[in-house]
Amino acid sequence: MSSDKEPVKTICPYCGVGCGIQVQPGDEPGDVQFMPWGDAPVNEGRICIKGGAATEVVDHEDRLTDPLLRDDDGEFREATWDEAYEYIIDELERIRDEYGPDAMGFFASSKVMNEENYLLQKLARRYGTNNVDNCTRMCHASTVWALRTSLGAGAMTNSMRDLREECDLFWIQGANPGEQHPIANSQYFRQAVLDGATVIQVDPHANKTTRSFQIDDTERHQHLQLNPGTDIPLLNIVLKTILEHHEENPEDGWVDEEFIAERTEGFDHLKETLADFDKEAAAEECGLPLEEIELAAEKYATADNAAIFTGMGMSQHACGVDNVQNEINLALITGNLGRAGTGVNPLRGQNNVQGTCDVGAMPNVLPGYQLVDDDEARESVEDVWGFSVPDEPGLTNVEISYEAGDSVKGLYVMGENPVMSEPDANSVADRLADLEFMVVQDIFMTETAEFADVILPATTWAERGGTVTNTDRRVQRMRGVGNVHENTKHDLEIVSEVGKRLFEEKVFDFDDPEVVFEELRQVCPSYHGMTYDLLGEEGLHWPCYELGDEGDPFLYEEEFDTESGLGHIEGVEHTPPAETPDDEYPLILTTARLEEHYNTGTMSTRSPTLNRQTPENFVDVHPEDAERYGIEDGEYVRLKSRRGEITLEAHVTDDTKEGVVWTTPHFAAASANRLTNHVLDERAKIPEYKAAAAEIDVDIEPADRAAGDD
Ligand code: SF4
Repeated sequence: MSSDKEPVKTICPYCGVGCGIQVQPGDEPGDVQFMPWGDAPVNEGRICIKGGAATEVVDHEDRLTDPLLRDDDGEFREATWDEAYEYIIDELERIRDEYGPDAMGFFASSKVMNEENYLLQKLARRYGTNNVDNCTRMCHASTVWALRTSLGAGAMTNSMRDLREECDLFWIQGANPGEQHPIANSQYFRQAVLDGATVIQVDPHANKTTRSFQIDDTERHQHLQLNPGTDIPLLNIVLKTILEHHEENPEDGWVDEEFIAERTEGFDHLKETLADFDKEAAAEECGLPLEEIELAAEKYATADNAAIFTGMGMSQHACGVDNVQNEINLALITGNLGRAGTGVNPLRGQNNVQGTCDVGAMPNVLPGYQLVDDDEARESVEDVWGFSVPDEPGLTNVEISYEAGDSVKGLYVMGENPVMSEPDANSVADRLADLEFMVVQDIFMTETAEFADVILPATTWAERGGTVTNTDRRVQRMRGVGNVHENTKHDLEIVSEVGKRLFEEKVFDFDDPEVVFEELRQVCPSYHGMTYDLLGEEGLHWPCYELGDEGDPFLYEEEFDTESGLGHIEGVEHTPPAETPDDEYPLILTTARLEEHYNTGTMSTRSPTLNRQTPENFVDVHPEDAERYGIEDGEYVRLKSRRGEITLEAHVTDDTKEGVVWTTPHFAAASANRLTNHVLDERAKIPEYKAAAAEIDVDIEPADRAAGDD
């Protein structure tokens, strides 16, 4: 393809690292190709397999190109945009009149831009409900909860750049950056480790992160391969080891007494919680020798600058908030917060999951994490919007799905795929089928769209402009090459049009993302100092309160952003997973993502390059378990839980622990989420994807192989 057209600088649509790439338009609208962006601020031209293949789906043959309406006979037919809008408006009005506004749910999307998510949550609130949420509920809701409550902001405390330059010890727990944030791992973390930093990985599964750190000096790499769901006992061993050593050797400074005295509260509670804690029994529960955990504790406590990286292995548990709180405890008692190279750093999944939360697409907060039940904050937003916002938190997306057909009658889905992404997916599909009305706007026919009444064809990431916020709070501009398919529309146009038709008000009269951003910065204090011009090509880290602020690469230098200004320490006790192995389901099932695929697979499984390496799901089985069950490597097995069954290829490997089976959620026919448990963390309402009881059947019919079933 040769073209005289200029490439556009934009951001990779996959993970939260936020790598800059270019899209080169060709002579025809669908001719778009990836081009590197040599001096992109985050990745400096480097790219992983997903970023390099991102343009492959822009003109994919499966693209939705026209609105679809479900006929009386249950089949979809093409419709005009006017017909589709009229149907949507009629149904939204009917549901509000018959059942009230809380009978609707709205799903924003971490795959779309800040401006579009901002408008969707504004639409929900103008409709009269706080039932709006996004996929952070499924990845880091518990992390956001713990960080916001105990430190002040639900985001990475530090930036990738300051970590590369200043961090001496990387404590990576329940995260797999080698696979899920490849450029952050190779360009920032691994570089620091090659320059001498130590890395401690805490994960039940050996993975590309484990292998990427197998550097010459193995003293500097420790992998604590714990049993799934034992992160609290492990961290309590670490905390108690540090406290015990400090009591006998205060001169070593393992505990930062000055930091605790001046900048924290709750230390006594932690000490009380650990007073009778039995380290030996806990180590047994973790499935690890006590000395290995104590050695890791020593390494963390003696590093000059130690940073914690936390991922979904921590957050996706019914005790997810407590898991992350214990990481915060570790950072606070050792004074590893508030300066470069330290902190508690969640590696965010989707390219704009951070921004989707920042702009208020959650049921309990407005833009800038202002609580809906805080009168002063809510009124300040209402003043700008010109309408009232409900003052009670709404339902989360998992709760909305569970209420579908009962208290929730209608659902507006922008770019999400709950039938694939939520736990116990078979019953999610059943419940969505009970809705009276569902609209889905997306780029492909998804497993969720199959249940919709109306489907709106949206443009892809490469076709439109806006902003996204990456994992270290850097807000960056995306730029598009224009519509590939004439009759598709940008999400912003669609939501704006629905708002205008529904309310006949100026409050949704937007046709330009920059104008939306200008309103967003008025109601989101941490974005207030940003404009499109100031974002330029480098972007800006929030918080950026005033025009001219450069944004903070690390947070809390002087004080925490809590009401008292202090960091909150709180001892936590072990809560085992809701399901533990028994006679019927004697294995522990745990799940995670692959480097070459992404979340529900809507884009990545349609990409030839990404599919080539791993075209279907598989399950890792430990050699001892394989021998006991009589499983050969490469054989197809049936994996079962109390919620469903899937058929997939067994990989016999000691990457997983004996008694633990490991698989992925990406492939519709055999998605792990047909098996996962829907039990929720009480506060953050995140599901426990990481631990469920499971069993394997070996005797299956050849016809079932790779077909998947439920
Ligand atoms: Fe895209 Fe993430 Fe890969 Fe960067 S690391 S190219 S943002 S998927």
